[in-house]
Amino acid sequence: MVSVIQTDVVVVGGGPVGLATALSFAREGLRVVVIERLAQADWENPAFDGREIALTHSSVRILQEIGAWSFIESAEISPLREARVETGDFLRALRFDTQGYGVEVLGWLVANHVIRRALSVAVSQQKNVSLFFQADVDFLHFEPTYTLVRDSSGHEIRASLVVAADGRFSPTRQRAGIGAIVHDFKKTMLVCRMAHDIHHNNVALQWFDKGQTIALLPLNGMVSSLVLMLSEAENHHILTLSQEAFNHEITRRVGGRLGAMRRVSTCHIYPLKGVYAHRFVTQRLALVGDAAVGMHPITAHGFNLGLKGQETLVRAVLESLTEKGDMGAKEGLRRFEQRHRRVTAPLFAGTNGIATLYTRDETPFCYIRQACLQLADKTNPFKKRVTSLLIDR
Ligand SMILES: Cc1cc2nc3c(=O)[nH]c(=O)nc-3n(C[C@H](O)[C@H](O)[C@H](O)COP(=O)(O)OP(=O)(O)OC[C@H]3O[C@@H](n4cnc5c(N)ncnc54)[C@H](O)[C@@H]3O)c2cc1C
Repeated sequence: MVSVIQTDVVVVGGGPVGLATALSFAREGLRVVVIERLAQADWENPAFDGREIALTHSSVRILQEIGAWSFIESAEISPLREARVETGDFLRALRFDTQGYGVEVLGWLVANHVIRRALSVAVSQQKNVSLFFQADVDFLHFEPTYTLVRDSSGHEIRASLVVAADGRFSPTRQRAGIGAIVHDFKKTMLVCRMAHDIHHNNVALQWFDKGQTIALLPLNGMVSSLVLMLSEAENHHILTLSQEAFNHEITRRVGGRLGAMRRVSTCHIYPLKGVYAHRFVTQRLALVGDAAVGMHPITAHGFNLGLKGQETLVRAVLESLTEKGDMGAKEGLRRFEQRHRRVTAPLFAGTNGIATLYTRDETPFCYIRQACLQLADKTNPFKKRVTSLLIDR
């Protein structure tokens, strides 16, 4: 006979946002079960996946508070001092820096696998969190006072609240009957680390060029993360090149800005699809991370919003616990949904607008984006708003 495990929260998905959620609840003395699809060894030692995550000040504060930041070595943290946005061969850039804000950096770049590893170490030391690996959710049943979850390893868990953190194509979101807007940008993103001869001075560059969009993210030393947005066929062709031809092609595409470039990591390709769930909650279930909002990475907000979202959820749920004695009460979940929608909806729409405007190559779009960049650079309130998204804690 299967014994039923009783807990406060089940988190489906032990990725970065799921683990942050588990830690936030556990710190409040609540019992959490995390169900993760990966095998334990892969989860504990995630491989480099090409993603370098630009972390805001608020994200670093949250990672510090939940006890994960201290597991990231300083050599793995690259400061970001300035960001430049350029279009075509138009030389005047839109610049974001820290002048007048009383901080030294706009944010920090840390590799995704390093963040995942730090969170997994912090979770492994947390006695309120149980982890089930190589498991999927097989069955989800909502009752007025609890939710019953059965995983593919046969565990049956009864919880006050289920949190789906299983990524942008979240099977749990689908199982709960929540639809999502999926915006296919019909492009892919090739990412890898490149060493170069000229120093980047810790300046990030986003360059919307005709036929390609390139981001160069400054890492410690003479190394940058290359993000190359092209059609699927073009990026796959680039992957077939020899190392020498690849280096030559990237140096050419980057316009020699950082001198000769050499690939120093594996390459990874991601499809560009934005996802926004129709709802963030249903009875005793909430969506966080990419399961709720999967952003186009162009504005580097996906994980940052995921961390903010789980913080908002935990606050709303704790309010419910105090007011109603029930952490899964619908009033708290609705409050979370409203608050998180207010933060994410304008960013999702704005990011999709930027991604569309800046990746179309027809002549009117080229002129419009040059004009927009010029206007944005002269518009102080706009620059202040974008900068405060990065540096507000
Ligand atoms: C190239 C690139 C660059 C990016 N750069 C930035 C950036 O600069 N700044 C930023 O903020 N964000 C960035 N992002 C976005 C960021 O990587 C994501 O927002 C973040 O990883 C989302 O975390 P998550 O935990 O919600 O989902 P995921 O990272 O997708 O984790 C989901 C977890 O759930 C598990 N899982 C899936 N299905 C199931 C299931 N059925 N049952 C159990 N477990 C399951 C998976 O194994 C995984 O561990 C970038 C993304 C890309 C692709």
